[in-house]
Amino acid sequence: MRIVLANPRGFCAGVRMAIDVVEQVLDVLGEDEVVYVYHDIVHNRHVVDRLREKGARFVERVADVPEGSIIVFSAHGVPPSVRAESDERGLTSIDATCPLVTKVHSRAIRYSRQGYQILLIGHADHQEVIGTRGEAPEATQVVESPADIPELRIDDPDKLVYLTQTTLSTDDAGVIIAALKEAFPNIKAPPDEDICYATTNRQQAVRQVAPHCDLVLVVGSSNSSNSVRLTEIAANVGTPGYRIDDVSELDPAWYPDGDETVLLTAGASAPEDLVSEICRHFVEHHGATLHLADVFEEAVEFGLPLTLKKLMKANGIDPGDRKVRVEPPVITAGEYGMNAVALTVSAKE
Ligand code: SF4
Repeated sequence: MRIVLANPRGFCAGVRMAIDVVEQVLDVLGEDEVVYVYHDIVHNRHVVDRLREKGARFVERVADVPEGSIIVFSAHGVPPSVRAESDERGLTSIDATCPLVTKVHSRAIRYSRQGYQILLIGHADHQEVIGTRGEAPEATQVVESPADIPELRIDDPDKLVYLTQTTLSTDDAGVIIAALKEAFPNIKAPPDEDICYATTNRQQAVRQVAPHCDLVLVVGSSNSSNSVRLTEIAANVGTPGYRIDDVSELDPAWYPDGDETVLLTAGASAPEDLVSEICRHFVEHHGATLHLADVFEEAVEFGLPLTLKKLMKANGIDPGDRKVRVEPPVITAGEYGMNAVALTVSAKE
């Protein structure tokens, strides 16, 4: 059996930053104070459970946070109503929204001020879409598929713009955008892509490598949009793809011969130790060899939120000019169970 590790996979800079924010706030406050996090900080069960064990408390309603507490907003962003409610309760808000989500919020605000109606392509019940729509609720309608287009209420087809959720399948978004352009030829596009670099790169790696594999395994939780999309991209190129939270969800029926080539990747919110555990399983139980498919290098970095820096300073900690950056995972023999296996690195395409 061959395990091909997609690179890039797993954590993006936005997820790394959001987790760092919660950990930093927990450190600053110490054990006596509770840190509340509005919504799962990122959509990964393991990440949320680990932070909960460290003392974070996750809530879905601002009303559940005691007055005067600290609240961290998740990487997916929040609508202005949540910010306002937090202020009303006298909460100290620390915003861990990914800057690439904030960019889409800013666009929604700007276009609605310019009198545009906004067609927001995305999943209506996803936290990010709820947040973006909240910036301009009167001007925004959500489009989940081309089937929604006939139902749209359009005032002026020449004053329309589309925006997209950052974690969509680029394949699906392309289909919806084409249908919108056909229905409204003068619809305006955003100045650059709203789907983020991490989503695009992880999907492109699967699109490129999956056709050479028998199976694609995606590490990620069921509520992780970009993880689910990776299985769909695999299916689009004709390779069966399954999403698993961790090694315990592997199903041997997916690799009946034991001699398959398996592309292993991870959504942007899935920690690398879950990937290494799966590698170890395949090496120990199926004699697998590990291979790398190096498709893109990523060098995106984000600064810490200003509100966190303020909190750190107020507690005598110098935040400096710290940047959050994700380095590609280093494959070490012990962690990945590679003691007796070969490792080959494929050339970038
Ligand atoms: S997936 Fe993209 S938008 Fe979401 S947190 Fe990561 S970088 Fe930001």
